[in-house]
Amino acid sequence: MYHRAKVIKIEDLTGFRRLYCHTGNNDISFEPGGYIKIIFVGSNERRMRSFSISQVGESSFAIDFVAHGKPGPASIWQQNLLVGDEFDFKGPGPASKISLSSDNFYFYADYTALPALHAHLSTIEKSKNIYIFFEGKHEVLKKYIVDFNYNLITEKDAFLNLLKQPVAKKSSFWAAGERLKILQIRELTKSHKDKYESFYLSSYWQLGEEDEGHRIQKKQDRLIL
Ligand SMILES: Cc1cc2nc3c(=O)[nH]c(=O)nc-3n(C[C@H](O)[C@H](O)[C@H](O)COP(=O)(O)OP(=O)(O)OC[C@H]3O[C@@H](n4cnc5c(N)ncnc54)[C@H](O)[C@@H]3O)c2cc1C
Repeated sequence: MYHRAKVIKIEDLTGFRRLYCHTGNNDISFEPGGYIKIIFVGSNERRMRSFSISQVGESSFAIDFVAHGKPGPASIWQQNLLVGDEFDFKGPGPASKISLSSDNFYFYADYTALPALHAHLSTIEKSKNIYIFFEGKHEVLKKYIVDFNYNLITEKDAFLNLLKQPVAKKSSFWAAGERLKILQIRELTKSHKDKYESFYLSSYWQLGEEDEGHRIQKKQDRLIL
């Protein structure tokens, strides 16, 4: 079943374009970190692209587009979008789950995963240890993730080495981003992923591949969503 939303406000954030959208339908319940699939209708095809819910209001929600600059139905659409435009979407789907009883949380995210990461940070007690490796410019992360205490792992090698170490007691791991990077993480963690209280990996997009191709690969990889 499809729903319709209207764009009520557009905001430019560093690295992102935030669309505030209104459905006028109280029966649809959105949660931060959940996702919708926006429908794009071409001359003889219908295409879908997934986006996380970054903000929730009354009958309304926001999504944050990464300005990735390559031509695709979603990226072209969002560049030309105006307040008052309407679109159809499928969903919302639920947010991913993490174990909130853990003491240590390890996150890997790129730009596309920042809305979902932000949603998770909002649910974790402030006293817990949070470690983040961000695949992108640190200034973007720092502007996006404010009011949370976390340890930023700045070196990729340090992060990859950490993945090879024995898992600290009561730890959770969450990673989302580009498919090949996620596959690398899966390889490094495959022998000890069961030691985490919760462990989540999801491929959100693939370099050099449109989402239709990416989704086929992801199914073959058995990567979530
Ligand atoms: C559960 C889930 C949640 C997601 N949440 C968000 C979100 O909140 N915000 C968001 O922006 N994206 C999010 N994504 C990723 C988004 O769905 C993909 O980036 C999608 O491919 C964009 O569609 P497109 O039409 O712009 O490009 P496509 O037609 O899919 O691809 C066209 C070209 O652009 C390249 N490309 C696609 N995405 C990127 C990128 N991020 N960076 C660099 N190159 C890219 C492709 O490799 C390809 O070469 C999410 C994906 C999933 C599965």
